[in-house]
Amino acid sequence: MSFQSLGLSEALLKAISKKGYTNPSPIQQKAITPILQGKDVLASAQTGTGKTAGFTLPLLHILSENPKEKYRPIRALILTPTRELAAQVYANVKEYSEFLNLRSAVIFGGVNQKPQAATIKQGIDVLVATPGRLLDLQNQGLLSLKRVEIFVLDEADRMLDMGFLRDIERIIKSMPEKRQNLMFSATFSKDIKKLAHGILNQPVQVEATPENTTVDAISQKVYRVAKGLKTDLIIKLISDGNWKQVLVFTRTKHGANKLCEKMSKSGISSAAIHGNKSQGARTKALDGFKNGRVRVLVATDIAARGLDIPLLPHVINFELPNIPEDYVHRIGRTGRAGAVGEALSLVSADETTFLKDIEKLIEVKLPVDIIEGFEPDPNASTDPVKPGQGRQNRTPRKASNNSGNSTRNNKSRRQKRN
Ligand code: AMP
Repeated sequence: MSFQSLGLSEALLKAISKKGYTNPSPIQQKAITPILQGKDVLASAQTGTGKTAGFTLPLLHILSENPKEKYRPIRALILTPTRELAAQVYANVKEYSEFLNLRSAVIFGGVNQKPQAATIKQGIDVLVATPGRLLDLQNQGLLSLKRVEIFVLDEADRMLDMGFLRDIERIIKSMPEKRQNLMFSATFSKDIKKLAHGILNQPVQVEATPENTTVDAISQKVYRVAKGLKTDLIIKLISDGNWKQVLVFTRTKHGANKLCEKMSKSGISSAAIHGNKSQGARTKALDGFKNGRVRVLVATDIAARGLDIPLLPHVINFELPNIPEDYVHRIGRTGRAGAVGEALSLVSADETTFLKDIEKLIEVKLPVDIIEGFEPDPNASTDPVKPGQGRQNRTPRKASNNSGNSTRNNKSRRQKRN
């Protein structure tokens, strides 16, 4: 199937060929046609599947086909959970609309709102936004969503994880009832299905990969290891493999910083990316990683959301996530665009429960290996590490009401940590 056969305009085809895409990805093949037909779409797709172009291309096509108004009300709203994802989606919107007479803007928190408000005042057709800043500007009367024709909810599962449900509901109320809705999510929990039911009108359902399963192109492996040997093991793996671009996940910001320091000390250039870092620092770290100056990017789950790193060969879970769905998100960073990727997890005794939860979710028993000299500690407790307790040997502040297994209840806690 070609992009031409999907019925996209010449101006979009030109932008697509400038990007170097030859064929639509599976999610694009499935989603673009129903979107062009004006239908609501519920798509199961994670980062790396080409989902952004999957909704952006038809959205731009529809907007540019309709008569333009001199005064540009916001006609399309793309809502994303994180600043990084917003910036990235916006970059895509800009690229794909290069040859169209459409204006777009991005707004997110953590930066001065004035330039954002000024751009919106000039009139834009497409707005990419995170919920908080959007509501801020709306409350100040600086933007109106009353003319929105197309609403995209990107990474809906993460939106819920981050506690944005109420914000989403408020935003939806401020849009016209009659509009086209597109919802993208990597996973489909009961809550997501409920949200979809409330937003979408007889949606066409499409999926890039089956629900909650991991992409075939990713080879996954678990190294059982003593907790105190993890840092040495990761350094060995990266050095021995001479890996040039590795994304490493830790559960906490503190863990990310600490690991980063230790790797840099052993001569492996690395940078950490997490919620405590300024927008500027995050962008710098990501740019360094993309252009090869930084060999290892150490990230927490929320900070890594939506990072666009093409053809990433290696993802390492320094610690397993306590929320099994996050494992799927994490390893979705590798094996893109037909390339084979490798996802390794360093698992200590206290992460056994997390491992079981993940295997249950993905319905795959992960192959386990042990590297000589880095054996697991036979005496270590298999009691699960408490969510929020990422550091080695750290005593929990409140040992009482944490079961370690509980995922939902710990989301607000995790949000603070990231
Ligand atoms: P996404 O899933 O939207 O984050 O996209 C993942 C990566 O795939 C991005 O680097 C895109 O630029 C790239 N991409 C999107 N569509 C295609 C396509 N049809 N062919 C090749 N690469 C693509």
